[in-house]
Amino acid sequence: MTPLLIQEFQNICGKENVWEDKVERAAYSYDAAVLDPVIPALVLRPTTQEALGRSVALCNQNGVPLTVRGSGTNLSGGTIPYAHGVVIVTNGLKRIVEINEADMYAVVEPGVVTAKFAAAVEQKKLFYPPDPGSQAVSTLGGNVAENAGGLRGLKYGVTKDYVMGIHFFDVNGELIKTGSRTVKCATGYNLGALLVGSEGTLGVFSRIILKLIPLPAHRKSMMATFPTMRSASETVSAIIAAHVVPATLEIMDQFTIQAVENFSHAGLPTEAAALLLIEVDGHPAQVEDDAARVETICREHGAEGVRVASTAAERDGVWAARRSALSALAQLKPTLVLEDATVPRSRIPEMIVALEEIAKQYDLTIGTFGHAGDGNLHPTILTDKRNSSEWKRVEAGIEAIFDRALAMGGTLSGEHGTGIAKARFLAKETTAGTILYSRRIKAALDPNNILNPGKIIGE
Ligand SMILES: Cc1cc2nc3c(=O)[nH]c(=O)nc-3n(C[C@H](O)[C@H](O)[C@H](O)COP(=O)(O)OP(=O)(O)OC[C@H]3O[C@@H](n4cnc5c(N)ncnc54)[C@H](O)[C@@H]3O)c2cc1C
Repeated sequence: MTPLLIQEFQNICGKENVWEDKVERAAYSYDAAVLDPVIPALVLRPTTQEALGRSVALCNQNGVPLTVRGSGTNLSGGTIPYAHGVVIVTNGLKRIVEINEADMYAVVEPGVVTAKFAAAVEQKKLFYPPDPGSQAVSTLGGNVAENAGGLRGLKYGVTKDYVMGIHFFDVNGELIKTGSRTVKCATGYNLGALLVGSEGTLGVFSRIILKLIPLPAHRKSMMATFPTMRSASETVSAIIAAHVVPATLEIMDQFTIQAVENFSHAGLPTEAAALLLIEVDGHPAQVEDDAARVETICREHGAEGVRVASTAAERDGVWAARRSALSALAQLKPTLVLEDATVPRSRIPEMIVALEEIAKQYDLTIGTFGHAGDGNLHPTILTDKRNSSEWKRVEAGIEAIFDRALAMGGTLSGEHGTGIAKARFLAKETTAGTILYSRRIKAALDPNNILNPGKIIGE
């Protein structure tokens, strides 16, 4: 990085938004994945659309790799930069440009924090359902780039289901607009669909048009305790098979329950072997009906207790506790590997057994929780990366988890993306032809390979 180039970035972004100091740069060298940090050559914080586009173009003209970063909460190494590259952090682009109540959409800049956006639309009795466990910190740009899921995926889908359009800067700094503000749009190629989940490898989002839906009138949350993870997971399948679709259907094993309770003191039953946390929402009459059916199914499948949250504070407390699962487990060991291999939901009981077998076979401590209702479990391996023999077993265990999920017709990632962490496993899930097509798309849109190199399809 020459002084002249740094000067040009300063001219574009303002001197105060270009960070050269090693300590400042080190803060952008890692994300939430367990991967070795890489300190970038420079960090930029553009605060205008123009500065964002010009920064991208300047990187390309000079062959400087660039990694866009929202809040760096991704779990797949998506924001680990290149040593001689630039990190472009989006928290200077955090305007909610428009919330259109009549047409139920919003236009946002990429650096808007997910929970702040959800709260802003809720004030207008509108609803933006995608809710990653990290929503208090993560950004909408990061969510779209990872196609983030969350606790409500079962009923409401994931981020891709709410993206109506994306405006992005291509590698030359040209503004490309996809999608529209209409509910339907069948014009041209569906380029937006290609950009969702592209993890910063195909373009840099500058604005996103998001679909909103009416806020559900009523919600009811309940907690059911079970004697085994197997009975809890069979209950999940039974609820789905009965065609009841809760907004949220989460599972936790005893190890996770105890860690979460020690961390959050929300009143979770630490003696339970397994827990289902369920929320139903909608019209009040429908909510009552669904809640009654869910309770019956839980009891028929051996639930030891079913508790309905009686106040909003109680409900919010339980969900906040659930969202703290990763942080709670992270307190127990120096290294935490949280996976998200996903199976068709009817195979959840089988996957639970597989995880128990893998923990035993590789002598690993695995806490399991996750979005059981959509087949997306988060087996979390607690370890210490400095212990090299244990780390080898961890790596073997992770691969075994992927293999078992794929054998059940599942996928490597339900919501955390591919990044660096899963790039080498891609061929296990998809064909050589699909990888070749992906490489051709990347080469066509980014011939100099400067947009987040090494992610998804590897080097
Ligand atoms: C405690 C915790 C709980 C979590 N729970 C969930 C969960 O329930 N569901 C889930 O899906 N994930 C979850 N995650 C993972 C993570 O929060 C998501 O992947 C989230 O979408 C990342 O958002 P971010 O703003 O931190 O993006 P970052 O981590 O900064 O970036 C993620 C990717 O997006 C790209 N990117 C960012 N901004 C742009 C842009 N403007 N244009 C193009 N590309 C861009 C980056 O280059 C990178 O590849 C969790 C993480 C933590 C730490």
